Amino acid sequence: MRYGIFSDIHSNLEAFNVVLDAFSKEAIDSYLCLGDIVGYAANPKECIEKWQGLSCVTVIGNHEAAAVELLDTEYFNPVAKAAIFWTAEKLSKEDKQFLSSLKYVYQNEELILVHGTLDNPERFDYLFDIPLAIPTFNLMDRPLCFVGHSHVPGIFIQDNDKTGYLDKSSVKISKGKKYIINVGSVGQPRDGDPRAAYCIYDTDSHLIEIKRIEYNIKKTQQKITQAGLPTFLARRLAEGF
Ligand code: ZN
Repeated sequence: MRYGIFSDIHSNLEAFNVVLDAFSKEAIDSYLCLGDIVGYAANPKECIEKWQGLSCVTVIGNHEAAAVELLDTEYFNPVAKAAIFWTAEKLSKEDKQFLSSLKYVYQNEELILVHGTLDNPERFDYLFDIPLAIPTFNLMDRPLCFVGHSHVPGIFIQDNDKTGYLDKSSVKISKGKKYIINVGSVGQPRDGDPRAAYCIYDTDSHLIEIKRIEYNIKKTQQKITQAGLPTFLARRLAEGF
């Protein structure tokens, strides 16, 4: 089985199209989405349509939760808040119904999905470092948990009582260890690399890879500016922060 796993598209259609194109060359059997399909850029409806076309298992992100009023907008900074109000106006009643039906946590026999952390998933905390990863490891009854939300790709490993961070973009999983994989962001990377991020997990080879791909940043920036969204949201894409 080959999973295509992605997160934090944030209404960036150009990045999403390029990632979907890359996935189409990877013999993916099943797609998994970690939320934040909308928010920040100018194509929420188009991204929702593309994502619905994949009919993939998806957990809710904080931007969906806010757009459908499950999360107070006080959680957000002023720029994010402006994007949420703009996005909520663009969504139809059906879009909102669909988004509000998403669950906070998904798990099957081998993996778990959550947007932020497994401890209080509805609070959308960030999982940036080892101390922040430990409460999620403690709640994992599966060897693998995929997360998004921070927009910073990364791999955390727990081997008995030892927890570490792997500064690599791929890992071969071995029995007895637990892994938290942050797949990074399709539409708004914040690790200094502006390229779109996506992840592939091959259950036969036990290999998990986080890949990057360039997209037309200028076009996304123009759309953000033309839509009247905060210009900071356009600027940050070029630097990947
Ligand atoms: Zn996000």
